[in-house]
Amino acid sequence: MSHLNELWQLQNTEIEMVKLRKEWNQIKELSNRETGEDLVEIQAAISEARNEWVQNKAEYDEIVAEVTEIARKLEQFNSQLYEGGAQSKELVSIQQNIEQLLRRKDILEEKQLSSIQLLDDLEQKIANETVRSQRLDEQRKSRLSRLTQRNDEVKERYNALKDQREELRQSIPDSMMAIYNDLVMQKKRPMALLVGENCSGCGIAQTVLNVNALKKSGQYTRCINCGRILIASDEVEQE
Ligand SMILES: [Zn+2]
Repeated sequence: MSHLNELWQLQNTEIEMVKLRKEWNQIKELSNRETGEDLVEIQAAISEARNEWVQNKAEYDEIVAEVTEIARKLEQFNSQLYEGGAQSKELVSIQQNIEQLLRRKDILEEKQLSSIQLLDDLEQKIANETVRSQRLDEQRKSRLSRLTQRNDEVKERYNALKDQREELRQSIPDSMMAIYNDLVMQKKRPMALLVGENCSGCGIAQTVLNVNALKKSGQYTRCINCGRILIASDEVEQE
C-alpha cells in the first residue's frame, strides 16, 4: 500500500473514531435517562391502592357483622311478636324496634353494594397496574441490554481502530505525518480527493502540473489553495 493510501486510511480511521466517541456519549446519555422513575411511580400507586383496599375491606367486614347482628335481633323480636303473651305496649315497642332495624338494614345493604363495587374497582386497578409495571420493566431491561451490547461493540471497534491508527502512524514516514498533523492542528481534514481537476476539500481546480504529478506519477501533491494532501479518487475507489 502506498503511503498516500495509508494517509487516506489514517484519516478514515480517525473519522470513524470520532463518530464512535459521539455514539458512546449518546449511549451514556440514554443509559442515564433510564432511571426507572415511571416504575417507582406505578409501584407507589399500586401500594396506595392496596392500602385503600385493606381499609375498605375492614369497613366492609364491619358492615357484614352489623347486618348479621341485625338479622339475629330481628329473629328475636319476631319470635317475641308471635310467641304471644306480650302486653300491647310491649308489642308496639317491639314493632318500633323491628322497623328501626329494617331501616338500618336497608342503609347497610346499600353501603355493602357500593363497598363491593369499590373493592372490585381497586382489585382491577391493582391487577392492571401490575401488568403495566411488569411490561414497562421488561421493556426497560431490554432497552438497557441493547445499550450495553452496543456499548461493548463500540468499545471493541474503537480499540481495533486505535491499533490500526498506531500501525499506520508507524508505517507512514515522519515527514508526511508532520504535514498531516499540521493540517489537523489547523482543524482541517488533512486529506482531500482529487475529483476531476478539483480538490474535494475546497473545490479549487488544480494546475495541470499538479494533476499530472498525482494522476500519472502518483506523486505526493498538495492543494494549491487549501494545502490539503491530495489523493486521486480512482485510487481510493480501487480499495
Ligand atoms: Zn483544496
